[in-house]
Amino acid sequence: MNGTEVVPAESFDAWGIFSRGQVPPEFTSYQKFKPFLRKDFRRRCAYCRIPEFRWGTARNYAVEHFRPKSRFPHLRNQYSNLYYSCNRCNEFKGDRWPDQSILEKGIRLLDPCEDDTYRQHLLRQTSGILEPLTPSGDYTNHLLFLNRDDLVEFRLLSFRIDALTQQVQAATTMVEIAALRGELLSLLQTLDRKSL
Ligand SMILES: [Zn+2]
Repeated sequence: MNGTEVVPAESFDAWGIFSRGQVPPEFTSYQKFKPFLRKDFRRRCAYCRIPEFRWGTARNYAVEHFRPKSRFPHLRNQYSNLYYSCNRCNEFKGDRWPDQSILEKGIRLLDPCEDDTYRQHLLRQTSGILEPLTPSGDYTNHLLFLNRDDLVEFRLLSFRIDALTQQVQAATTMVEIAALRGELLSLLQTLDRKSL
């Protein structure tokens, strides 16, 4: 798709590949791209996918350089190299980048805008733990510490919300729907309170 197309909200899949729709000006300070990144990444971390409402709003998110600015200074203000990232993933990644010996083995850091990370490279198990399916998935998982406790809990809650949403859609009686909706609402409120 080209940069001007707008992706309808309903087509967004939090675990899929991100596609950008924003066309920001050519800023000379990368921090200025943050509002554009926030929209393109749907208020989620590009790497772990945790949404703002679970992670204390935009103040806990950073403008992250996929190719580190220390190694790729010419990409410092290049929008396509900038990602919306939670502060934890941003810290864990830092200026890490696979060295030549790793790249020569065909292993790379998975790109949230190119790779279908959570379907082809990492399996979200029902326990909330990620299991690598490929060497690049394993490398990315370790580099970003994607099996840290808060993310395991987040994935578990995501599974529960998904399951409840499906049950609401499949429910046939109003009583059933009301009960499921109540449970879903209570779970979402729990998530909101925990994010404060
Ligand atoms: Zn993250």
